[in-house]
Amino acid sequence: MTALAQTFSIRDFFKSFLLLELVRGMALTGRKAFARKVTLQYPEEKTPLSPRFRGLHALRRYAGGEERCIACKLCEAACPAMAIAIELGEREDGSRRTTRYDIDLTKCIFCGFCEESCPVDSIVLTHVLEYHGEKRGDLYFTKDMLLAVGDRYENEIAAAREKDAKYR
Ligand code: SF4
Ligand code: SF4
Repeated sequence: MTALAQTFSIRDFFKSFLLLELVRGMALTGRKAFARKVTLQYPEEKTPLSPRFRGLHALRRYAGGEERCIACKLCEAACPAMAIAIELGEREDGSRRTTRYDIDLTKCIFCGFCEESCPVDSIVLTHVLEYHGEKRGDLYFTKDMLLAVGDRYENEIAAAREKDAKYR
């Protein structure tokens, strides 16, 4: 055995004998036990979300109930994932509205370009992040489903946009 190897083995012997690793581990545990907690008990506890959080999509209506979307197709053109499919038609009153507005969330990359491109604040990405699909088709959102999300969360959507208004 070389002198160097002997030095290492003696050092290792004393380290093991004095339980140095154990003492160090206990000291670390002791320090962390009284430190500020950074973990949360999700889902009971949640982290705050930015007003710009990009969660589930929604189509909004005006206060009177009229849908905001004017079928300009800008969101469809802006979508890099080609997740949006729009068809449109003219109403009896001459106004243009979508007859189909679908988003395939399995394609969506949640970039927010659709929201940014919309001239009438119709398509938005909400704070809703807890949703799931059990089969592929469950994440294919139709116009009715998107409007229903908008109707349900309109207060929260409006509040988030109000908070972010000065940065837009
Ligand atoms: S968030 Fe991005 S990828 Fe998803 S639908 Fe909108 S534009 Fe397309
Ligand atoms: S959601 Fe907005 S951008 Fe998309 S078609 Fe409707 S009005 Fe145009």
